[in-house]
Amino acid sequence: MDRQQRLHLLGQVDLLHRHFDGLSKEAFSKASCRKGCNACCQLLVMITRTEAELIIERNPLTVAQAMPQLRAQAQELIELAAEVEIRNDVTASAERLRDAWWKRRRTCALLAADGSCSIYNDRPFDCRQHAVASDPAGCASRDGKELKIRMNFVDHHRSELERLEAYRAAAGDVDVATGALPVALVIVSQQMERADWSKLESQAGDG
Ligand code: SF4
Repeated sequence: MDRQQRLHLLGQVDLLHRHFDGLSKEAFSKASCRKGCNACCQLLVMITRTEAELIIERNPLTVAQAMPQLRAQAQELIELAAEVEIRNDVTASAERLRDAWWKRRRTCALLAADGSCSIYNDRPFDCRQHAVASDPAGCASRDGKELKIRMNFVDHHRSELERLEAYRAAAGDVDVATGALPVALVIVSQQMERADWSKLESQAGDG
C-alpha cells in the first residue's frame, strides 16, 4: 500500500470517529463527564491498527515523548496477559486482563499533566464511547466495571472499524488488527515508514 492509499484509510477512520461523535453528541450532552476527569483513562484501551497509524501520523512528537512509558506499559501488559491467560478462552482472558490492568491503576501514557488527553482529536473509538450518567467521582471507585451510557450504534461503529482492519488483513497489509493501546503504538511506530523515528524520539527527549 502506498502512502496515498494509507492516508486515505486514515481519513476513513477519522470520518468514522467524527460520525460517531455527531451521533452521540446529544446523548453525551446529558452525561456527567467533565473536562479533566479521567478515571476512564486507567482502563485498558483497545485500538485498531489504523487508529494507531492515525495517532502516530498526526501526533508524532507527542507519541515520541510518551514512547518510554508506552514501551514500559506494553511490556507490563504482555507479561500480565501471560499471567491471566485462560487456555482456549480468549474472551475470559481478555476480561481478566482488563480487570487486572484496572487494579494496577496505570494511567494512559497519552494523558497530559493537566488531566486532558494529549491526542484528543485523534483518540481511539474505545475512548470516545465512555460516558457516565453517575457522579464522575464514582468512576474511580468501580472495580473495572465502569458505568457506561450504552448506545445501540456503538457496536455498529466498532464493527465498521474492525471490518476495515479485516480488509487490510485479507490484502496482506497488516499483521496486527487490534491491540492494547501501548502495545499497538509501540509495534506500529516500529513498522511505519518513518526513517527518522529515532531522531524524533531523541528530539522529544531533549524537549
Ligand atoms: S488516548 Fe486519551 S482519552 Fe484515551 S485513555 Fe489515553 S489519554 Fe485517555
